[in-house]
Amino acid sequence: MSAEYIYPEFEVQRNERRCTNCRACISQCANGVHYFDEKRKIVLSDETKCVNCQRCVCFCPEKALKIVKNPNTFRENANWHNDTVKEIFKQAGSGGVLLSSMGAAGKLPVYWENPWRPACSWAKSRRA
Ligand code: SF4
Ligand code: SF4
Repeated sequence: MSAEYIYPEFEVQRNERRCTNCRACISQCANGVHYFDEKRKIVLSDETKCVNCQRCVCFCPEKALKIVKNPNTFRENANWHNDTVKEIFKQAGSGGVLLSSMGAAGKLPVYWENPWRPACSWAKSRRA
């Protein structure tokens, strides 16, 4: 696990007592979440790829699967919600520019209502 690790949004829960390792979930998942571990001889999951489509749940003959929303979140407060912190976390890891903000419920003043006007006035004054 690296410092950039973000918990997956969904968790695959496989009931080991019901699972017969038939591998139906492997063939039904379009995102390659389930795989067969040759060493341990069991079906395992990489939850980071799961999009919660529930297809594997429907096709599991033993009804051994559950996909649940991961309750693990970043600490939230009135301004910083989980999704915002997650976005910042990802962008900080990539070295990219911050594209989202925490937003504001109230009306804010617009400082740059017409950014071209001051620029044009300045250019005109230079020409005169
Ligand atoms: S489809 Fe169900 S029973 Fe078959 S390997 Fe997957 S979880 Fe186990
Ligand atoms: S819910 Fe969909 S994406 Fe997730 S493991 Fe099952 S089939 Fe794959």
